[in-house]
Amino acid sequence: MINEILRLSKEYQVNAEDILFIHMSRYGVNVEFPYSRVRFVFSPYENAVFSKAHRMNIDQFFLALPRNPESPFSVHGDKLYLDDVVLGEVSDLKNDTCDTHYTRRNGTVINLNPVSKSKCHGCKFCHTIVQNANDTDMDISSCENLEKFFNDFMTDHKIADLSSIVQVAVVTGGFGEEGKVLNYLEMLSRTLENYNFKGEILYFGAEIHESGLERLGKIKHKVVYCYTVECFTHRSEILKKEKAQISVSDVMKLFDKAISLGIDTTFSYVLGIDSLDSISEPFANSIGHITRFPIINVYQQHVGASDDVLAPEAKSIEYYLNARLKIEDLFKNTKLLPRPWENYRSLWYLTFGNIDLMESRIP
Ligand code: SF4
Repeated sequence: MINEILRLSKEYQVNAEDILFIHMSRYGVNVEFPYSRVRFVFSPYENAVFSKAHRMNIDQFFLALPRNPESPFSVHGDKLYLDDVVLGEVSDLKNDTCDTHYTRRNGTVINLNPVSKSKCHGCKFCHTIVQNANDTDMDISSCENLEKFFNDFMTDHKIADLSSIVQVAVVTGGFGEEGKVLNYLEMLSRTLENYNFKGEILYFGAEIHESGLERLGKIKHKVVYCYTVECFTHRSEILKKEKAQISVSDVMKLFDKAISLGIDTTFSYVLGIDSLDSISEPFANSIGHITRFPIINVYQQHVGASDDVLAPEAKSIEYYLNARLKIEDLFKNTKLLPRPWENYRSLWYLTFGNIDLMESRIP
């Protein structure tokens, strides 16, 4: 497979590392662990596949993958293999649980899941159905508990306040009502004011509608609204009812109003569900309605889960590489770029077109 990756790298003019990581999202990894998903830090050796990473001085990647005994990628001891070739070293190998909180961007972004996302089911591609829950014991839903969480966080990270944190994200679709999401985001903002937090609050979900935008726009911190669009076609068959009931064009109208209220906008998308022909127009139409590059996840197949949401052509790596080229072409004249720290199953790890992506990629 390494020769095939190097051939595709030449043909598509895409660095070999990005092709290899897209393959890993598609295949998962074979590892002797009793869990459905694993996460780990990967430090590649210098070789033909990782020449770009070495030129960019990038020596660590963080990966979260399905466990798949049939995958050509495998972990043995502390080494990652592709077939029988050692790619590099693995550290901090863990069960990829659904957590109450975690960091991104080298500890400078805090993600919060205050309403047990592990209990949220209904979107056919979603891995909460196979993931182990680690978000039911700790309560960060009240002001008092949030304060306790931030105090503990500062102690653990040896920081005196939260001035070094650039983003606190609330990442869950399970509040149940718009009012509850807004109450939480307002409480979070008030709480963060006591910690010298100067960054932004990101909401990642689909539970705030037009009726809630005015309140969202009044939050004192900079707010980013990432709407979980997920797919452009077959929405009612694939998404849970609450998410499917709003159309993609209505989401764009929501974004226009949000932008007029000073809110930044973007959306999440799972690549692999829509046919290649059906993605160009909605991505092109989103330009002008979003202020951040969309978070585009490569679809990850889990062992035992049905693959009936996957477009037939998405069983080939070329689907992902062609999608990548199409999306790069559409966004090349915007200033919007994917950020390596906000997506561990991305289409872009090292480069976007001919631009090197330099930001941190470690939690
Ligand atoms: S809303 Fe859908 S994608 Fe989000 S956690 Fe629930 S089931 Fe998963």
